[in-house]
Amino acid sequence: MAKIKMTTPLVEMDGDEMTRVLWKWIKEILIEPYVDLKTEYYDLGLPERDKTDDKVTEDSARATLNYGVAVKCATITPNAQRVKEYNLKQMWKSPNGTIRRILDGTVFRAPILVKGITPYVPSWTKPIVLARHAYGDIYNSVESRVQAGQNAYLVITDKDGNEVERKLIHSFKGDGIIQGVHNLDKSIEAFARSCFNYALENKIPMWLGAKDTISKTYDHRFKDIFAEIYENEYAEKFEAAGIYYMYTLIDDIVARIVRSEGGVLWVCKNYDGDVMSDMVATAYGSLGMMSSVLVSPDGKYEFEAAHGTVTRHYYKWREGESTSTNSVATIWAWTGALAKRGELDGIPELVDFAKKLEKATIDTIESGYMTGDLIPLFKREGITPVKLDSEGFLKKIAEKL
Ligand code: NAP
Ligand code: MG
Repeated sequence: MAKIKMTTPLVEMDGDEMTRVLWKWIKEILIEPYVDLKTEYYDLGLPERDKTDDKVTEDSARATLNYGVAVKCATITPNAQRVKEYNLKQMWKSPNGTIRRILDGTVFRAPILVKGITPYVPSWTKPIVLARHAYGDIYNSVESRVQAGQNAYLVITDKDGNEVERKLIHSFKGDGIIQGVHNLDKSIEAFARSCFNYALENKIPMWLGAKDTISKTYDHRFKDIFAEIYENEYAEKFEAAGIYYMYTLIDDIVARIVRSEGGVLWVCKNYDGDVMSDMVATAYGSLGMMSSVLVSPDGKYEFEAAHGTVTRHYYKWREGESTSTNSVATIWAWTGALAKRGELDGIPELVDFAKKLEKATIDTIESGYMTGDLIPLFKREGITPVKLDSEGFLKKIAEKL
């Protein structure tokens, strides 16, 4: 068989620990035998980030702006313990945060469904895709403790420092706390466009929930911006695609989600998305089965797994022990990126290959061969699940493929 040719390179962002090990195997066992793989390689592994003063992360994000499609391995976000472990020059920022900032993108997380693994909510037969606004609210807030007898105000000044507005937040009779949060119209607009584009592309209805009845200015602004952009830019396209956009209170959305069969894009403000994405991921089964894509408002894509570098497994592997680490979400990062590249460059064989690799992966699990994390979740009549090690699972998929 002649290998499938690519025209434009993928931006390849390598990463850390166990996922770095899987990364190499996925390429060697599942992709390179069939695709004449073209990538522009950036090593986002922690040692290289430290060596380049994190320039490599910025460069990889800018390359994504240039080429349009990236595939990213999970990476360590250093904390104090990692600074020691890797003898770092400083506590480098989260690569995902840096990439998100440069692409100004929104993260969409979607579960990968297989027969035999039933979600905790059995009616969820289709994926619930969750979009989280990744700017502002409590994640860039200022907070203070206030003592009895003190007053707290919300004060706005103009660029010269003259007071424009002053509102009493609370006159404290006893000790308490306050918090100041903000958001930006521009960021909410970019978020809205990313979400509308994703819904259109995947032909799924889109639900936004916030608390505009209580937060009559702040949350209401989200509702208004989405409504305006929808009416002006997307209403006709949604109608043509047979999908719809709906805004309702976040409480109502939560109730509707639980009763739904899935198959919707659930758009969340930052905090709601943080909390609800963990709930949705857990309800569908395993972190190893959750895919993730960052989409910029002007249509640049960065595909990755939703999970981290699986450190516990890596420490075992480093000691020469075998691990049974789930590579499905990382495979999906590759298939997502290859299919998107094929679509943009007009290479149908590449799109087809990506679909076949996904099908081979699903078929492998559905026929009973899987990694350890899925074994306790798997129930299919007549099939006793077999636990494979990390490499064995990839080889089993290669047989199917
Ligand atoms: P994690 O790597 O997602 O792993 C947490 C636990 O979940 C694992 O110990 C494992 O449980 C299970 N798990 C996750 N993915 C799995 C898979 N593919 N197959 C099997 N089991 C899986 O999260 P973490 O331990 O909190 O973080 C580790 C490192 O990853 C940190 O340095 C963090 O900064 C980084 N991180 C990176 C990203 C990213 O790049 N997007 C995201 C999150 C975290 P058991 O140990 O019980 O088997
Ligand atoms: Mg969370």
